[in-house]
Amino acid sequence: MRVQAYGARAGDKPLEPLQITRRTPGAHDVQIDIAFCGICHSDLHQVRAEWAGTQFPCVPGHEIVGWVAAVGAHVSVFKTGDLVGVGCIVDSCKHCDDCDSGLENYCDGMIGTYNFPTPDEPGWTLGGYSQNIVVHERYVLRIRHAEDQLAAVAPLLCAGITTYSPLRHWNVGPGKKVGVVGIGGLGHMGIKLAHAMGAHVVAFTTSESKREDARQLGADEVVVSRNAEEMAGHTKSFDFILNTVAAPHDLDALLVLLKRDGTMALVGAPATAHPSPNVFNLIMKRRTLAGSMIGGIPETQEMLDFCAEHGIVADIELVRAEQINASYERMLKGDVKYRFVIDNASLAG
Ligand code: NAP
Ligand code: ZN
Repeated sequence: MRVQAYGARAGDKPLEPLQITRRTPGAHDVQIDIAFCGICHSDLHQVRAEWAGTQFPCVPGHEIVGWVAAVGAHVSVFKTGDLVGVGCIVDSCKHCDDCDSGLENYCDGMIGTYNFPTPDEPGWTLGGYSQNIVVHERYVLRIRHAEDQLAAVAPLLCAGITTYSPLRHWNVGPGKKVGVVGIGGLGHMGIKLAHAMGAHVVAFTTSESKREDARQLGADEVVVSRNAEEMAGHTKSFDFILNTVAAPHDLDALLVLLKRDGTMALVGAPATAHPSPNVFNLIMKRRTLAGSMIGGIPETQEMLDFCAEHGIVADIELVRAEQINASYERMLKGDVKYRFVIDNASLAG
């Protein structure tokens, strides 16, 4: 099936309308008409070949929501018309220890929603900046939010799970002091989720203009990280810091804010390395510097249900396909409140 999409033919070229092919649904496949797709900073890293190995044409997009249009003969859980989502994973080996544990995100055979090998044309996966997608039922999520919230649910499929998973893994909850660094797509979800989990949340931003917003999102305190005095006020006080920043920066300034046995988890994936932190900042208080990548399928469903229950969605700006390139430029300037979401109906022209 030929469908309209938006993607790039080279790393130094803007995204443009493209026609792509989707496979005919197999026995375990779900075909989804995509209503909305969020724009993640990872899309920009990949499509501009900032990360290694981008295949062109590249169609990004892994914050996908829409309706089931068709199901294969052996699909019993989903039916035509269901409201569903697809995040960053469309396949995995299905039999390793990670897959058996519901941690498909750490399976060595994980197939990402775009730019991963597939037998389908053209040989690598093509993402959600497209009219529809065909995905094995295991990687399809059920959406329980009201249908009129659908556009604002899309970012939960990456920004939501990428922040929810580490917050849960490091036991964020009542009595814990938690920092969220970088108030973009991921960071704004991190604030909302940590707040809903009952933690004391401190937002770290480089943008003075986001101070009030961060409070509205659920932060108990806001620190403008360029201000050394404000930073010093939080020395040795955090149980956990979630760092979502998309660019290399000084990690020591944040590590010293952790108390004994505290952890800072990096989820931001800048194209070039951070300067190495000072080892003594880790040794002296037995601090941990960690990382985390999206989340598994069961946990993604748990996160979606948690958000539906707590009335949590992303703060979004809806854009048309022809605004994607301009949206990338605005995202680079930190000028997004707080996630761009594509109205996929605009792909039809
Ligand atoms: P985003 O919307 O662009 O937000 C990043 C935020 O980082 C900015 O809004 C800004 O917040 C802060 N920042 C500070 N200095 C910056 C600089 N020099 N350049 C860019 N940002 C700066 O991006 P996102 O979609 O949240 O993604 C954040 C990072 O996470 C990206 O690297 C992305 O690839 C990565 N990611 C990782 C995973 C994973 O599984 N680990 C999943 C999704 C995305 P302030 O204005 O508040 O300072
Ligand atoms: Zn993403």
